[in-house]
Amino acid sequence: MLDQQPPSLIDNFGRRVDYLRISVTDRCDFRCVYCMAEEMTFLPRSQILSLEEIELIASAFVSLGVKKIRITGGEPLVRGGILSLLETIRQLEGLDELVMTTNGSQLVNYAQGLRQAGVSRLNISIDSLQADKFNAITRVGKLDKVLQGIESARRAGFKRIKLNAVIQKGQNDDEILDLVDYCLERELDITFIEEMPLGQVSDHSRSEQYCSSDEVRAAVEARYPLIPTTETSMGPSRYYRLANSPIRLGFISPHSHNFCDQCNRVRLTAEGRLLLCLGNEHSVDLRAILRRHPGQLEPLREAIIQSMHLKPERHEFELDGEQQILRFMNMTGG
Ligand code: SAM
Ligand code: SF4
Repeated sequence: MLDQQPPSLIDNFGRRVDYLRISVTDRCDFRCVYCMAEEMTFLPRSQILSLEEIELIASAFVSLGVKKIRITGGEPLVRGGILSLLETIRQLEGLDELVMTTNGSQLVNYAQGLRQAGVSRLNISIDSLQADKFNAITRVGKLDKVLQGIESARRAGFKRIKLNAVIQKGQNDDEILDLVDYCLERELDITFIEEMPLGQVSDHSRSEQYCSSDEVRAAVEARYPLIPTTETSMGPSRYYRLANSPIRLGFISPHSHNFCDQCNRVRLTAEGRLLLCLGNEHSVDLRAILRRHPGQLEPLREAIIQSMHLKPERHEFELDGEQQILRFMNMTGG
């Protein structure tokens, strides 16, 4: 029996968890240099949560007070059955917002369906507006496809579309203003992300290419005054408004600015591990619980409530230090 008032998920540091990110697949049609190795071995299907298992976990979280779910990956749009999964999750009573992060490569085909399935907002990742550079960063991606995907999302009626760009020195740090101008012309928001040391990537030096949010901000402010806002997603982003425009600029700065004190989120990996922190390995194997008690909500709810005691106070990223997190971002659900 569910309680009348659902218990909230509160961790040992008094933070309320009401935001779940779900990685629906570890697979992707891109191989971004900071996210994956060139040769990837993906998980066998039997180790990946089924759509029904993902639905049950989502429903357990919503019954415990989660209000927002972000679907991510890997690339969420390469997962078979994604639209029906979204439709089911959207109908969970108590869920306020269902959103998605995508690389945009399939949006031409999916934008309309995503709207109809009830996805309210999209984050689309794009690090370069130059075709050859875009191809080098993603190793295989075609810029045109993603630009067309962004237009399809706008035509489908998505509002407040947000672009995500990871800025790397010597790679795309000369495109910061071009990306801002692209967003200004289309009234898109943009978040600049500091690279995080997730997974070992051999042909790419994280510390040499690291570009801090302060450096990116200085580059933007050379042309556009930024107005700090009090808006917050209770997460790692700090937001600014661009003077005389409706667009917002965000900075995700895990290195240069600690973002842990307001953390309200947890992540579910494609294989069903519940990660309590992006920058630590603390986790609970929800797949094992599900497969021991197929179709049952209560053991899941119990494990999720208990997991709150494992949520660490802060992350432990170091660019080239010993605290490297071994899992890649596609495993983590960025
Ligand atoms: N494939 C989708 C995409 O690219 O938007 C969703 C998953 S991807 C892992 C989510 C976000 O994580 C992307 O914006 C990507 O740029 C970012 N990301 C991946 N690896 C990262 C890393 N090592 N440091 C910082 N951001 C990273
Ligand atoms: Fe794929 Fe997204 Fe990782 Fe790029 S960042 S390899 S698009 S999962």
